[in-house]
Amino acid sequence: MPEQRPSKPTRKPRSSKPTRKQGPSKPDLRRNKRSSKPDLRRNKRSSKPDLRGISLDELKSFVLKLDQPAYRAGQIADWVFKRGVRSFDEMTNLSKDLRELLSRKSFLSCAKVVETHTSQVDGTQKLLLAYGRTRIEAVLLKDDERITGCVSTQVGCKFACSFCATGAMGFKRNLTAGEIVEQMIALREAAAPDRLGNVVFMGMGEPFDNYDNVMRAIRIANAEWGLGIGARRMTVSTAGHVPGIRKLAGEGLQIHLAVSLNAPVQGLRATLMPIADRYSLTQLLGAIEQYSERTGRRATLEYVLLKDFNDSPEMAAALAEIARRLLCKVNIICYNETADSVFEPPTDQIVESFLAEVRKRCSTVVRRVSRGSDIAAGCGQLCVPRDGT
Ligand code: SAH
Repeated sequence: MPEQRPSKPTRKPRSSKPTRKQGPSKPDLRRNKRSSKPDLRRNKRSSKPDLRGISLDELKSFVLKLDQPAYRAGQIADWVFKRGVRSFDEMTNLSKDLRELLSRKSFLSCAKVVETHTSQVDGTQKLLLAYGRTRIEAVLLKDDERITGCVSTQVGCKFACSFCATGAMGFKRNLTAGEIVEQMIALREAAAPDRLGNVVFMGMGEPFDNYDNVMRAIRIANAEWGLGIGARRMTVSTAGHVPGIRKLAGEGLQIHLAVSLNAPVQGLRATLMPIADRYSLTQLLGAIEQYSERTGRRATLEYVLLKDFNDSPEMAAALAEIARRLLCKVNIICYNETADSVFEPPTDQIVESFLAEVRKRCSTVVRRVSRGSDIAAGCGQLCVPRDGT
């Protein structure tokens, strides 16, 4: 399909303004190609292991080093993951001496819930969590069928998508595996007595830019000894990080992959999402195709409708063509307002006719109703003020 521009490209998205270009430096995409992995069990600011971010096997080696029997690892994992305790003193089936030893030789990533906002419209809850001075947001979405936790993977984001509030924050740091797991524990507590059924990695940040920590958190979340969340109940969403998609295809995990496409043609996509300058649409579609071939799983294409930018019938046809060719599902999301944005959501009528146009060629398209937008907890609205990290 030839490159097409939206019908009325009268306004420039923020990312093309010089001020946005002064933002974070270009992401170091080589990092994900490195074979030597950082020591993910350790928090940078501490030489001790974070028990919230280590596997049962690692926990076993750790307790053996402390001259403890291996079965202690199972007991500790139970406290750390199943019960989600935030202090060693709560581990009451361990001796006081052992609890003291653990607190000297290790630590637990703990988040303080600084604020909770609840949507009056749909009951969505947004938690502002603090890890020391670092602040992030996580969201609990409820509908009739299930409760879903939306988790952040980074403090801020390097990728500066022009319509996203997290992108406007710039990048501060990666979250550790323990901090990601701790978010799920905080969300599980907020959901109680209901069960946290699903987890989506669609909060702040680009999961594949923090690949190893995110995969580690997913394996802990998925494990029987961990949080016990089924892999098919987890979704990782990427802005189009091609090496990450290729790597995920080899993990042997049953998690879902969502790709934020947002434009079906390279020119517009690169204008809206600077990551497309690094990884072209052709490369991205190639990676999705390879992912489906290797895993036998269908990816989901996410498409945020931005009035007059990507909501024309031609765009709908091009999107449907891609989805049909790659056997992808399509989620259409209406743009959520963010501060100082030049974008607007299209009218309901435009959204419906866009959907109808896609549906003519591809039946696996749904409109995803954004939840929590009245408390700025909707897709792309998560951001935190400066916090000194
Ligand atoms: N970086 C990853 C994970 C964040 S998920 C990614 O881009 O996929 C955030 C989702 O919300 C993405 O699908 C993104 O395209 C969408 N989004 C961003 N800003 C939005 C906004 N203002 N309104 C609606 N959706 C938005």
